[in-house]
Amino acid sequence: MSVLELFESMEYGPAPEAAESALQWLAQRQPFDLFINNRRVKPASGQYLETINPATGKVLARVAAGNAADVDAAVAAARRAFPGWSKTPGHVRARYLYAIARHIQKHARLLAVLETLDNGKPIRETRDIDIPLVARHFYYHAGWAQLMESELAGYEPLGVVGQIIPWNFPLLMLAWKVAPALAMGNTVVLKPARYTPLTAMKFAEIVEEIGLPPGVVNIVTGEAGQVGEALVRHPDVNKIAFTGSTEVGRAIRQATAGSGKRLSLELGGKSPFVVFEDADLDSVVEGVVDAIWFNQGQVCCAGSRLLVQESIAERLVAKVRARMEKLRVGDPLDKAIDIGAIVSESQLREIRRLVERGVEEGAQLWQPSTACPREGYFFPPTLFTNVAPAMTIAQVEIFGPVLVTMTFRTPEEAVTLANNTRYGLAASVWSENINLALDVAARLQAGTVWINATNLFDASCGFGGYRESGFGREGGKEGLYEYIRPRWEGAGGRAGRRRGLAEASASGEHKAQSGNGHAEHGSNGLALAGSEVFADLAGRMPPIDRTPKLFIGGRQVRPDSGYSLPVRDPQGMVIGQVGAGNRKDIRNAVEAAHAARSWRGASPHQRAQVLFYIAENLAAREQEFALRLVQQTGRAYTDAAAEVQAAIARLFSYAAWCDKFEGSIHRPPLRGLVLAVREPVGVIGMACPDEFPLLGFLSLVAPALAMGNTLVVIPSPQAPLSATDCYQVFETSDVPAGAVNIVTGEREPLVQVLAEHEDVEAVWYFGSAEGSKRVELAAASNMKRTWVNYGHPRDWLDPVQGEGEEFLREATQVKNIWVPYGE
Ligand code: NDP
Repeated sequence: MSVLELFESMEYGPAPEAAESALQWLAQRQPFDLFINNRRVKPASGQYLETINPATGKVLARVAAGNAADVDAAVAAARRAFPGWSKTPGHVRARYLYAIARHIQKHARLLAVLETLDNGKPIRETRDIDIPLVARHFYYHAGWAQLMESELAGYEPLGVVGQIIPWNFPLLMLAWKVAPALAMGNTVVLKPARYTPLTAMKFAEIVEEIGLPPGVVNIVTGEAGQVGEALVRHPDVNKIAFTGSTEVGRAIRQATAGSGKRLSLELGGKSPFVVFEDADLDSVVEGVVDAIWFNQGQVCCAGSRLLVQESIAERLVAKVRARMEKLRVGDPLDKAIDIGAIVSESQLREIRRLVERGVEEGAQLWQPSTACPREGYFFPPTLFTNVAPAMTIAQVEIFGPVLVTMTFRTPEEAVTLANNTRYGLAASVWSENINLALDVAARLQAGTVWINATNLFDASCGFGGYRESGFGREGGKEGLYEYIRPRWEGAGGRAGRRRGLAEASASGEHKAQSGNGHAEHGSNGLALAGSEVFADLAGRMPPIDRTPKLFIGGRQVRPDSGYSLPVRDPQGMVIGQVGAGNRKDIRNAVEAAHAARSWRGASPHQRAQVLFYIAENLAAREQEFALRLVQQTGRAYTDAAAEVQAAIARLFSYAAWCDKFEGSIHRPPLRGLVLAVREPVGVIGMACPDEFPLLGFLSLVAPALAMGNTLVVIPSPQAPLSATDCYQVFETSDVPAGAVNIVTGEREPLVQVLAEHEDVEAVWYFGSAEGSKRVELAAASNMKRTWVNYGHPRDWLDPVQGEGEEFLREATQVKNIWVPYGE
């Protein structure tokens, strides 16, 4: 062929990456055993599984089929290593993580080729994206290990962490999980995906090479039913970190409910790619390629729904088709290939099934004329037009190179269409109008929004979902909190605290903190016994009967049931009645909370004003609230007054935090910025603790309100009157109608309705261990966030336990908005 002819066709010649070294490496080491305590351990079953090269369908290697006995051994090794590793100084841990990063770079080529062989993704991607990001993740977290002691003082690691990763980014997902866990002093048992265990085997070698202490990282390969489930259910695992399908995520939520295991879930998506008519269409086309044909579309945040403004739809679709004609599908080891192989035969079947479904449902299928290899598991890039929002292909995660397009007319319609999914992982917005792009980004329900860009990742920028895309973040400072807990919550602290609280309540004493410093209050000579004070101050006139109703939508309303419940003092005397709320009242309250969503748009300054105002009005009635506490709890007046003062101080704290817990700006290695914005979670249902009826109530309400959430609150059933007395305080403090709704009644049935409610985004529960479990189980239905106490009380007077960033973090979720700049 002459140069001239070549110039005409611009045909690529083959540019294969050599696989010999990687194949030799495999041949020398396989079959691969388990990696426990830095040793190769034969699986208890004696069985091995084959791993396949999806580009050829041929066997690559045999890998141990672990089972529950192996998981036991790995967890035991991790448990033994934990005390030593968690006490290893941050600087030393930083050196290990740094060494891992260096070794990843030293073995970069082998890792890239192995990943491509095992997964089928193009070498260009493993070489230029996966592996560099893996190294970056370890470097970044080496930094956090170094800084932990100063920047995260007061926190400690969780213990043994079970990590379950998928096949789409095998080594990158390992890095996302292992790096923060180790940086924060945890030890790890990792389960790689069945289809793609090989780079984890090379990682085990790196762990040995750098001399990481035995037991800090353990790797158990095998099948989900054997290894994954055993890890999830293991009683000595303190946390599960999972990335994979929403269905399995839901099963894990259910399996861990009530166990006290921490959980982070990074699940599926159906991410919108929104294009406005003023966008630079040529950039958009390249963006589409990156959004849906990167890694064959097997990306949780793939931009799989192309939403285009009607005026440019035809033009854009024509351009996308022209570009698709140029995409090259083939040998993933070829450096000039755009689309490699699908990970497995079953995944390929699933893609085909969904594509056929799209055609059956009436969507228009288009595929380029270029051929796919016959051998191996390949699927051509695919475009669907004439798609209706309710079609299966518009709703279900296909996890393949399949793009569906829909059109919109106005920005309003674009937002509605984009949010019309149960997922909320990522989105991208394309427009040359920065005002429009940022406005739309703020209204999209997604954990990451890219502006005029897509599929950008960096260790410094947290990643994770809204809604059924899961909860928790990976990367960024926010990701660290998934692997640590406040020190006081640790086993010793908790038991001690429980003892302390029990002793204090038995002796009628309580350590209290007033608004302006620490002070000890008890039943001393100055304090009168509760009932005496009450009788004294109430005078001889019978009080005007005040029966609190429910507080819904800013109004005091009668409970649907028409029934009331008695409230008793510690001696059993009836001191009042409250409405017996039911399922219908909760539903009404949720509706009111949704209707009050404008609260989330209120500026932090406005929210702070409202919280200060609540504090001011509470202070004006300090004595009355203290007496109410005396009446309900029988505690000394000084104790009760201290609780009211602490509540006022707490409101001040959160008023202060309103405009200070704001998020941050990241500078990943790109020309641009990433705005990490803290957004409210949405509608939060909360069941308040029995201890500290006023302070416990306001300690939950204030941070959630401060961050822009709207609430449905179930006060302590034992002592609800402190909360119902707040109705008037809220009414006179400019709290918008519906921002706080209060339903009194029996805690457990009411919170169950909240936990099952599809329109509630989070549930906070402070009650019993069994109740905590029920909430976690029920919340799995729509993957709502839960924050429960597993029956452990807190000392609400202690600012370390009763207020601060932990509350603010629970009240927010981080959205990362990527804003590249330059022409
Ligand atoms: P899964 O969710 O089944 O697998 C992810 C990981 O979880 C694997 O390590 C798997 O093990 C393990 N696992 C599976 N079931 C359990 C269980 N009951 N308990 C504990 N661990 C378990 O994803 P699939 O590989 O089956 O893919 C199915 C679909 O999931 C895809 O089509 C895609 O839609 C979605 N998906 C989403 C991902 C994401 O990044 N969000 C990643 C992968 C898939 P094993 O490999 O042994 O089965």
